Amino acid sequence: MNGLADVIMLSTVAGLGTALGGLIVFVRQPGKKSLGFLMGLAAGVMIMLSFLELMAEALHIADLPVVAFGFMTGAFILFLLDFLLPHKHFSVSEKGLIDAILP
Ligand SMILES: [Zn+2]
Repeated sequence: MNGLADVIMLSTVAGLGTALGGLIVFVRQPGKKSLGFLMGLAAGVMIMLSFLELMAEALHIADLPVVAFGFMTGAFILFLLDFLLPHKHFSVSEKGLIDAILP
């Protein structure tokens, strides 16, 4: 396979995985502990992928100050979008159900 086909295939698999995870949450209604564990697992996977893959690759391409500036710029852009765009935060209520609360 060529590079573009790999990217499209892996992006599709990642998107389907996200959809499957969301479907499982809506169909099974996991309890508080299960949901907390699964969210922590997802956060751990994303953080480890970011640091082991993206940051390592970036450091092969450019120097640390450039990579660090890009990292901080990305974090700042996400912070601004979270602050400026209307959205809902999801949390777990006392009963273990998923509730939507306004920011
Ligand atoms: Zn937010």
